[in-house]
Amino acid sequence: MISEKLKKAMRDKYIANGCWSTETFGKALGRLADTYGDKTALKDGDLTISYREWDTLVNKCANYFEEKGLVQGDKAVVQLPNSVTLFIVSFAMFRMGVVPVFALPAHREREISTFIHQTRAKLYILPKTHLGFSYGEMGKNCISDTDCQLLFEDEIRESLNGEYNATEYPENNVSAYDTAVLLVSGGTTAIPKLIPRSHADYLYDAKTFADVVGMNKTTIFLAAIPAAHNFTFANPGVVGTALSGGCTVLSRNGGADEILDLIMEEKVTVTSMVPSLLNVCAEMAQWEEEEDLESLSTILVGGAVLLPDVLKTAETNLHCKVRQVFGTAEGLNTITPVDMPSEQVAGCQGVPISEYDEILIVDEEGKEVGRNEYGEMIIRGPYTIMNYYENEEADKEAFRADGFYRTGDKAFMDEDGCIHVCGRIREQINKSGEKIIPAELESVIKEYEGICDVSVIGIPDANTGYKICACVVPEGQEPDVLELREFMLDKGVAVYKLPDHVMNLPKIPLTAVGKPDKNELLKMFQERQKMAYV
Ligand code: AMP
Repeated sequence: MISEKLKKAMRDKYIANGCWSTETFGKALGRLADTYGDKTALKDGDLTISYREWDTLVNKCANYFEEKGLVQGDKAVVQLPNSVTLFIVSFAMFRMGVVPVFALPAHREREISTFIHQTRAKLYILPKTHLGFSYGEMGKNCISDTDCQLLFEDEIRESLNGEYNATEYPENNVSAYDTAVLLVSGGTTAIPKLIPRSHADYLYDAKTFADVVGMNKTTIFLAAIPAAHNFTFANPGVVGTALSGGCTVLSRNGGADEILDLIMEEKVTVTSMVPSLLNVCAEMAQWEEEEDLESLSTILVGGAVLLPDVLKTAETNLHCKVRQVFGTAEGLNTITPVDMPSEQVAGCQGVPISEYDEILIVDEEGKEVGRNEYGEMIIRGPYTIMNYYENEEADKEAFRADGFYRTGDKAFMDEDGCIHVCGRIREQINKSGEKIIPAELESVIKEYEGICDVSVIGIPDANTGYKICACVVPEGQEPDVLELREFMLDKGVAVYKLPDHVMNLPKIPLTAVGKPDKNELLKMFQERQKMAYV
């Protein structure tokens, strides 16, 4: 845990060295509207809005939210698919000093209810339906027993289309050092941790990253994966593109066919995605003509392990530079240098984007290890958080007294200062870049009638990085994977967290200290798989 004295000293340092400015997101958008005026900022299907229109719509939306009773300091859960509305809503809240909690479209009742309760959110903004799922139905359950109101995306759109008050939202006392947004952590505990990012740190992060990637007024960025995710929102993402005067094209369903069509139609120059999506896009791109993809210069890939074959296929079929990035919603971003030979990119996550980022690789006692030696990666810097949102327990575990955040990632640093991430030290399953916490699933599965013990493990998989296996001890009849998935869906668990396999066991093997022996469970799974038994 970091003392208030050290936090203040760190903040003073980032202000003094010019990383943190006094500009808020609301003010930054006003400046961009003055600078770029009628230049296109966002494209969402047939809808195109300029920087000036974005700014005006944000004022309209802020006035609308004010009438709905939102005031500075309030929290609102925002769960919107990629759309212009997401960027109007979030920037309106930034301008008002209302803090959005960025839920992802894949989150379900369990996660959303937790966010609402944790933050005492006043509003939950959601689509009625999206990609066949009825968010409206789920929303009613999420707000029961709370003061939170539902507000549908359509209602906001209708209000903004009408003659809504577009006068400038009055100056208020939102400070650049206030929390702008709460991001959702992959975390390692059953309760999702919320990550407070301030205006100053998040804007610095996005602009620094955009500069490293070489974004400018000619950049056309494709938001391929959910835009409420840190990677797409501001790493460098939509915010980095806007701060550079470029244009963002929003992919609605995130499918590989839509992504390729948009790259070709909109002449996209940069995009970012997780390795599993890159793999599908690269495979599909082999059928496209090289000249149709010629606008694309860079793909940023991160969030999970990148396999050399995927990188090679992507560079060959998409005819562009692939740069690997490492990112956490808690802060640090690294990227492979632009001139790094391709064959080195798959196994390396590169160097930090800011000269003020600090990375140490430490042993179990917290002592720094030498170059090329494995240890836990710990980080500190101008856009790495110093605490979670209202979660002292998590702070005690995650932050050292000297201000470093423990990532839980196993890594080494080479002679050139490049990091190489190779798995997790703390428990977390990374499936296609989605972070799954075994403890969260275990607590739900324990509620299934007839299961007396459970342990959830990750199974290495060539396509997705990991798959999820629920190792269960049934009392009576053995549950199968479909029954268990259905049960978990009913309990409001997000689809991406559902187990791919169930392994029935007479008992869970334990380590010497009495914890579930997950290595042994993996071995048992692999033995059974050889015999086609799971
Ligand atoms: P999130 O906070 O959801 O963005 O997830 C951050 C975590 O994703 C990191 O702590 C890593 O475990 C993992 N991660 C991010 N980028 C990479 C990468 N390039 N290679 C391997 N793992 C990564």
